[in-house]
Amino acid sequence: EEWKDRGAAVSIQRHVDSNGNQTHRIVKKGVQDFNFGRTLGEGSYSTVLAATDRQTLTEYAIKVLDKRHIIKEKKVKYVNIEKNTLNRLGDHPGIVRLYYTFQDERSLYFVLDLATGGELLGFVKKLGSFDEECTRFYGAQILDAIEYMHSKGVIHRDLKPENVLLDEQMHVKITDFGTAKILDLPSQTRTSNTDGKTQLDRQEQDFANNIGIPDHERANSFVGTAEYVSPELLTDKSACKGSDLWAFGCIIFQLLAGRPPFKAANEYQTFQKIVNLEYQFPPGFPKVARDLVERLLVLDPTKRLTIENIKSHPFFEGILWGKQLWKQKAPRLK
Ligand code: ATP
Repeated sequence: EEWKDRGAAVSIQRHVDSNGNQTHRIVKKGVQDFNFGRTLGEGSYSTVLAATDRQTLTEYAIKVLDKRHIIKEKKVKYVNIEKNTLNRLGDHPGIVRLYYTFQDERSLYFVLDLATGGELLGFVKKLGSFDEECTRFYGAQILDAIEYMHSKGVIHRDLKPENVLLDEQMHVKITDFGTAKILDLPSQTRTSNTDGKTQLDRQEQDFANNIGIPDHERANSFVGTAEYVSPELLTDKSACKGSDLWAFGCIIFQLLAGRPPFKAANEYQTFQKIVNLEYQFPPGFPKVARDLVERLLVLDPTKRLTIENIKSHPFFEGILWGKQLWKQKAPRLK
């Protein structure tokens, strides 16, 4: 019952015959429609494989999730969150798109955009850090994608350079929506407070518990790294859109400095640093970028820059926002 597919495996194909008559065909895809290739990576509950649609020869990344493992580890809810958010975010170049979902007896399959460049984190590690031009470009693409997801009522809650993938063109594709929060859209507002925070529901409570209590039994809980967690999640156990902008500030810092701002020997010490706003800029950190980061890494989420403020900050001077940003050639990483 839990796995009931609500039609995401279906796509509509338009066909025009020699007389110019249009017909539409509903296409239901399944495992047999793809050739599976190399393994792109492994998650705690999934394996991601490169695959080609046999008919169209289009390449995808297919995430294969083991049903028994997910049920045993009580992650059904998070798999559903990932699918539902991706379905809601179907139309932005900076977000991994979900094309089809289907299943067989053993596994669930998510057919996704293939991000051939891999994780942004890989490039940061390889290069040590990014220069201002590259940070500006990747920062702008990440921010544009955040703006879109927030406009669709989605808070990501786990933004970090591992979850920023790169496509063939070396453009950003944000992934990993398994811990996202879907807000009620304005027309159906239910539990939103005036300050934009959402009430703790069960899902959010579990999330806070999982990261708030360092528990070695749960070493493999779904929040992999503590470094990007916002202070409000640690103190009030609540996340808001501003929590993603905190993580965005951490990412900008990391691209330029080569390390995240809050990093310690263990999760507990990292959390201490976060709630005490204890971080330092390395020597030579660009001044305009420092100003931006200082206005994002603010403990009170209501006092952080808004997305509009960030877009007009001097650090992003010269960036063409919106569609233009995605037509631009990525600067060579150096
Ligand atoms: P965990 O579930 O443990 O948090 P994860 O979120 O990284 O891990 P997956 O989403 O299954 O797990 O991804 C596993 C690996 O596959 C990652 O290293 C990621 O880089 C790679 N990967 C995921 N999606 C894609 C994609 N669309 N294109 C290319 N590689 C991908």
